[in-house]
Amino acid sequence: MKNAKSLTIAIVAPCYNEAEVLPTSIPRLMSLVDDLVSKHACSPDSFVVLVDDGSKDGTWDQIAHASQKFPNVLRGLRLSRNAGHQNALVAGLTYVTGKCDAVISIDADLQDDLNALPLMIEEHRAGAEIVLGVKASRADDPFMKTLTAIAFYKGMKWMGVDLVENHADCRLMSARALLNLSKFPEYVLFLRGLQPLLHGRISTVKYDLAPRLAGKSKYGLKKMLGLALNGITSFSTTPLRLISWTGALVFVVSLLFAVAALGKALSGETLPGWASITVPLYLLGGLIMLSIGVTGEYVGKIYMEVKHRPRFLIDEVAHIESRLDE
Ligand code: UDP
Ligand code: MG
Repeated sequence: MKNAKSLTIAIVAPCYNEAEVLPTSIPRLMSLVDDLVSKHACSPDSFVVLVDDGSKDGTWDQIAHASQKFPNVLRGLRLSRNAGHQNALVAGLTYVTGKCDAVISIDADLQDDLNALPLMIEEHRAGAEIVLGVKASRADDPFMKTLTAIAFYKGMKWMGVDLVENHADCRLMSARALLNLSKFPEYVLFLRGLQPLLHGRISTVKYDLAPRLAGKSKYGLKKMLGLALNGITSFSTTPLRLISWTGALVFVVSLLFAVAALGKALSGETLPGWASITVPLYLLGGLIMLSIGVTGEYVGKIYMEVKHRPRFLIDEVAHIESRLDE
């Protein structure tokens, strides 16, 4: 392991319509790197990559401007469209692969505690290939977000998926972990679920989550549900198995019904029959639709994976020649 002051650390932050927050975040990130360098926690070659995930506000202008102002420390990547948080993050991680000893990913709104970064680097120096930032409390999260997050983590655990609770996407990944990530060609990436597969030496650092510096959350209910669904369908086939079990159960119950009905018919007690026909009809109809829906989710995933489309396309790299190009 290199000594701390020769470790090149890359910090990657995806930005989607973050024009309100960047005027505060960029200077903070610049002074963070300065601070880490002056405390010999990383090498002076360490740098920040801001990935513009197809923003429609002034985000790119600010990133481009900052990359001119800090050519040795800041680099901007502009994606061709809004590819989504996970893909924007992968774009940044792919870009820094081979250019650093470790990368730390954080959100552009700096809700993650920057004081946790030196601790992450220490953990890495102590041997961890992956260090996960874990929220100590969700006190500042809206009620619905806390509730859905708890349900998600509990549900994932029940389905046998090994996730670290309250870890979002603030983490350190070593060059080795990054290289391992590049061997996962799957289109639908759920980064936090992949971490245990990338390397066994994982540790965690806890911190309190700050409120957003400015602007609004870019993770609406739709994006959140999409992420949760991707997480489930990328890592677990339990929902499919659940369908089989439910189907088996319904089959057994229907069989009992049939035997009972046959018995009654043979003994001459024929029923008027309305309820016994319509109730199972609705019930089974609903169940079949639900089962097709869940199966469809997985078929949809196979369809996306088979096409093997690029997860993101880089449109532009904002930089002027600097030592980052060496
Ligand atoms: N983000 C992104 N693409 C998107 C949505 C979000 O790159 O389509 C970025 C966003 O700019 C931020 C991070 O992902 O840096 C987390 O988003 P946000 O802070 O809005 O989520 P929250 O903290 O509310 O869950
Ligand atoms: Mg946030």
